[in-house]
Amino acid sequence: MNTELVRVRFAPSPTGQFHIGGVRTALYNFIYARATGGVFVLRIEDTDLERSNMESEKLHMEGMKWLGMDYDEGPDKPGEFGPYRQSERLEIYKKYADELITKGKAFYCFCTDEELLEKKEKAKAGGLNPNYDGTCRNLSHDEVSKRLQKGEKAAVRFKVPIKAFTFKDRVKGEVTFPENMVGDFIILRSNGLPVYNYCCVIDDYLMKITHVIRGDDHLANTLRQLMLYEAISVSPPEFAHVSLIVGHDRQKLSKRHGATSLNWYKDETYFPEAVVNYMSLLGWSHPEEKSIFDLEELKRVFTIDRFVKSPATFDNEKFKWVNGQHLRSISCERLLDQIGNILPQNHRYFEQDDEWRKNCVELFREKVDLSKDMWPMIDRLFDASVEQSDGMNEINSWETTPVIREYLKSEMLRLDAENREFPTISDVNSWMKHLKGELKIKGKPLFMGMRAVLTGQDHGPDLKMFVCLTPVKIILSRLE
Ligand code: GLU
Repeated sequence: MNTELVRVRFAPSPTGQFHIGGVRTALYNFIYARATGGVFVLRIEDTDLERSNMESEKLHMEGMKWLGMDYDEGPDKPGEFGPYRQSERLEIYKKYADELITKGKAFYCFCTDEELLEKKEKAKAGGLNPNYDGTCRNLSHDEVSKRLQKGEKAAVRFKVPIKAFTFKDRVKGEVTFPENMVGDFIILRSNGLPVYNYCCVIDDYLMKITHVIRGDDHLANTLRQLMLYEAISVSPPEFAHVSLIVGHDRQKLSKRHGATSLNWYKDETYFPEAVVNYMSLLGWSHPEEKSIFDLEELKRVFTIDRFVKSPATFDNEKFKWVNGQHLRSISCERLLDQIGNILPQNHRYFEQDDEWRKNCVELFREKVDLSKDMWPMIDRLFDASVEQSDGMNEINSWETTPVIREYLKSEMLRLDAENREFPTISDVNSWMKHLKGELKIKGKPLFMGMRAVLTGQDHGPDLKMFVCLTPVKIILSRLE
């Protein structure tokens, strides 16, 4: 049995929003580390200096914290294998590139971008292989030294071995790349910056990464990475390339399909629990085929062999439904916290006592999948208007309705005279008793009539609870 300590990493390029696809990759690595007692590393791949920025790095870090993915090592969590930002590791990449050159496994390439482009176009036009043509592959040591001394700009290019590469992917099974798929590729640009495939290998090796779990859009990169592992005489980590996330049209998920950033979902009042839950199911399945669970359960049941091979369809409705399930089971305190952040500070909700607020969120959480949808419902408690609708017209046309209205108006006037702010359950019960017993109104005319008269609407949540949350004065205005 392999008893090696599991070390996994999430390696975002901080060039924009924290995308759903990235969230899923981070999550799988994080859970795998937690499920195996391993270590989870955050590595920032910011060697594209033009596109990388600190805001994006911050978005990724904050997003991970919000989701409960606490990494063990990272730019703000120093560890044995730092620094954890690639832009701070340039010397390391230079050192390994020098070694590859010394061993004859890489070479300086003086070809300019223009020359390369021209050669490529020519090859293509002539139906030839457009890979690098080897111009600088066999330059003599002397010539290289001379040109470097003259200050000529040079990139470092890797000498690609002519052979096929095979590896066993934990999701895809055995994958073989035939020979000649790629030509000698650049590992260090002439400005000293490394390219992704190269620094990724150096870092995964130096950071002792044992498993690389990532999206299958990186499968093609694995070929160059395998070549580099071989060149530095290191066995590669295990790879698990997780299936693509697609939209309903089976195309790769993109902005076209709607929002793809984590922050958008956060602003839409999704709970981190729901994000973790739903994202984990995009490419993996629960051993008991459950669809609702929390992070703790995930840590207990997660195994790498339950990744699904087929692309995962991102389904907004399902995601919302998952959120609804968490919304109903989350603690009242969490919900109060969240609602407190959603409503504007001057909302009358904030003038009410703790008991009222608790009853309010408990009532409405049954009705919605997203907390933000409770807002209009809470508004309604303080809205004296009476809805005009076919349903309301019908209820108003019943001969029992004016009777109910008259009686309840007298009751509300009485409560108001007693300075009562809200009706209580026993008020509502006694009204019902009176309407049934003395006024002989029953069934639909009673319930619908009371609802229409008290709430000004022909639909809504549990009537008794709703009425007890509505100020007496608001009900009075509706009655008038
Ligand atoms: N920086 C790469 C990305 O964001 C990481 C790929 C990998 O996990 O190797 O896609």
